[in-house]
Amino acid sequence: MKAVLGGKGANLAEMTNLGVPVPPGFTIACQACIDYLRDGAVPDGLRQEVAQHLARLEASSGRRLGDPEDPLLVSVRSGAPVSMPGMMETILNLGLNDRTVQGLARNSGNARFAFDSYRRFLQMYGDVVLGVPAQRFEQLLGAKRLTEAVETDAELSEGALRTLVEEYKSLVRHAIGRDFPMDPAEQLWGAIEAVWRSWTLKKAVDYRRVHAIPETLGTAVNVVAMVFGNMGEDSGTGVAFTRDPSTGERRFYGEFLVNAQGEDVVAGIRTPLRIEEMAERLPEAYAELLDTQQRLEAHFRDMQDIEFTVERGKLYLLQTRTGKRAPTAALRVADEMVREGLIDRAEAVRRVTPTQMDQLLHPVIDSTVRATPIATGLPASPGAAAGRAVFDPDTAERRGAAGEAVILVREETTPEDFHGMVAARAILTARGGMTSHAAVVARGMGKCAVVGVKGIHVDADRRRLTAGDASIAEGDWITLDGGSGNVYAGDLPTVPSEIVRVVGGQLMPDRAPVFRAFSRVLGWADEVRTLGVRANADTPRDARMARAFGAEGIGLCRTEHMFFEGERITAMREMIVARDEGGRRRALARLLPMQRSDFEGIFEAMAGLPVTVRLLDPPLHEFLPHGGEESKLLARTLGMGRDELHRIVDDLREANPMLGHRGCRLGVTYPEITEMQARAIFEAAVRCSRRGIDVRPEIMIPLVATVREFEHQAAIIRKVADDVMGAMGEAVPYLVGTMIELPRAALTADEIARSAEFFSFGTNDLTQTVLGLSRDDAGRFLGAYIEKGIFADDPFQVLDEPGVGKIVRRAVFDGRSTRPDLKVGVCGEHGGEPRSVRFFHRSGVDYVSCSPYRVPVARLAAAHAAL
Ligand code: PEP
Ligand code: MG
Repeated sequence: MKAVLGGKGANLAEMTNLGVPVPPGFTIACQACIDYLRDGAVPDGLRQEVAQHLARLEASSGRRLGDPEDPLLVSVRSGAPVSMPGMMETILNLGLNDRTVQGLARNSGNARFAFDSYRRFLQMYGDVVLGVPAQRFEQLLGAKRLTEAVETDAELSEGALRTLVEEYKSLVRHAIGRDFPMDPAEQLWGAIEAVWRSWTLKKAVDYRRVHAIPETLGTAVNVVAMVFGNMGEDSGTGVAFTRDPSTGERRFYGEFLVNAQGEDVVAGIRTPLRIEEMAERLPEAYAELLDTQQRLEAHFRDMQDIEFTVERGKLYLLQTRTGKRAPTAALRVADEMVREGLIDRAEAVRRVTPTQMDQLLHPVIDSTVRATPIATGLPASPGAAAGRAVFDPDTAERRGAAGEAVILVREETTPEDFHGMVAARAILTARGGMTSHAAVVARGMGKCAVVGVKGIHVDADRRRLTAGDASIAEGDWITLDGGSGNVYAGDLPTVPSEIVRVVGGQLMPDRAPVFRAFSRVLGWADEVRTLGVRANADTPRDARMARAFGAEGIGLCRTEHMFFEGERITAMREMIVARDEGGRRRALARLLPMQRSDFEGIFEAMAGLPVTVRLLDPPLHEFLPHGGEESKLLARTLGMGRDELHRIVDDLREANPMLGHRGCRLGVTYPEITEMQARAIFEAAVRCSRRGIDVRPEIMIPLVATVREFEHQAAIIRKVADDVMGAMGEAVPYLVGTMIELPRAALTADEIARSAEFFSFGTNDLTQTVLGLSRDDAGRFLGAYIEKGIFADDPFQVLDEPGVGKIVRRAVFDGRSTRPDLKVGVCGEHGGEPRSVRFFHRSGVDYVSCSPYRVPVARLAAAHAAL
């Protein structure tokens, strides 16, 4: 029922059905919010319905709203179908006024508590519904602490609270020109409408944009009888998880505060106690809570994040929802829940998001670095990040947008800080616990966060952080370790994740417990996916890494990358500046053994799996120095005059190199380059085959526009293959295929497929040429396009399905019309991007190919696409 009642409402109803102690209440469906925002008026008939349900609520709680003797008080809470923690409004203690507060005082036998509740209500309602700035209330509260000479609100006397109530009311009167509403029915409708309107608050809109939550969902409104955690030492409130949200360990984990109301915990205003301590303070309620949390997890078959209140020893559950968790925890919980029989393998695969998988492959601080932390806080969200300290969300947003690495440092965060948290690499707060706003939001975004750092002082006005002797000003580098909670001054080096180190052979699998869950969950992903996953790798080292990450071959080996290393670049340059074919061949002959040995290494690393080798692609000028010392040196090395070298460099200069002399156009004009590369590939293949290695080369021709180009190059390759295999006396099976990265190639796919044995979509160039957007220059203005909503995403990151995607789909279809068994891959950057992977899965593509570190992400995304 989440779509109708919102997450909170649906789960409150579910808990009620389960017999879990929940205070009585009712939920106004999300549709009412959508209607209200569209029409600007309360939907027809809703007032009567609310009145009916209020009457039922009054009957079941035995109290009436506005009854001066024994008043019912309610909370009015938002609750969207998708969790948006803290982004929308909530009103507590509704129903209090000058008369009912007396009744509450009498019935609770605690006048201080009654007036404290009243002043909280005036403050919350005044801010949220009546629009009186929160800090004006805070100023009066602060002044009261001063005149009463106390440090905390909890120490304010009943008398002080009574005068504060009067001060708050007069503040409201002056601010809005009328009295604070005393009629509880009017209060209720004011609160309901404020919750609806909060759907369109900037922070809520920003949150939905970042998390891709549709604008059309709307929020439900939950009207629930209040229970009080601030009724004395036998009362309290807390937030807990059924498993550890950072590590995934199966243990009840949470925090609570004695004599406090709900928002005190979430807002991080008081640093709470560990949940275990509740066993001593409130033993019976704790026992019931332990039992209830287990029932909830078993019922929902997922880790729950629960809010509870104890009123005079009696436990109430106020909310349960699926707990947000760190990436490590997501893997571990998914793995262990399969073994506990709670979920099946497919569900475990669904429970880990590609983003979480990506984060597991992220760096941590290099442990060989000897740095002393300037402070240590709670490790709220894992990962490590270095950046420049900034002290307010707007600066974080501005500097972040300019491409700077920034870390947002706050006393504590509130939802108002959200846009700054989005822009920051990591978040540091002085106050709050593991369930504080900063912790919950950062974990949800998979961002490193350290919170509740004792002994530091954050001075937002002077833009300075002090920790003992250390002082960090705005713009100074700091490094956070979200795994240990350590805070360092300076920009510390980071090392790859545990998983990356296991895969790279630097760490034994048993030293990285998360690795077991990683392998198992990905193994289950492999069972369900149908899309193949290969890697883009150019060196034997990368190929080994890719294979360890589960790549099923190489989908793109960019051979030009081999020419940039060491002395190879000199031979390459010699080839480029050669005056004639003879000179070119001599230089190529020097490159041949180097390429051959690279290919041997790659074939060996990928034994038994296909390796797609692409012939030289970039324009030649990319290999040459453009003036300066380097060109002087080169002229000397090559024994030519500097003027002559300059003339050649000038000749090779292109106004639009992306459309110039590159790709197969190089091989057409200089067939000897194709010959050399083909020879290196086949000689390496035969040598490997002689050593008993199963080699499967697939030779790929780049930037083909017409079938005639393809045929020209393929003929050279096949001739070299015959020569090499004839001379070496051993045949190796191979394929010759093409990149599809120009619109004309895609449009004539049927024709090209008659000759080409496979296609691999180069979606980088295809995006560039279909959209007429330069890969190198578009970054300068794409931001504006995304901001103005012209593009939903950067098309170089997320495939443009309606445009480029349509061409891909059609070319797959046309290609197979002339060659039914045509093998089709994708090797552009989109091959590792989850949404694009889903599209390729549906488009009949056989495999995607992406960088080695994205292989696990692609495996998981491909499984999600198939589920
Ligand atoms: C492509 O164009 O998508 C591709 C994979 O080739 P490159 O990025 O090397 O141009
Ligand atoms: Mg390309």
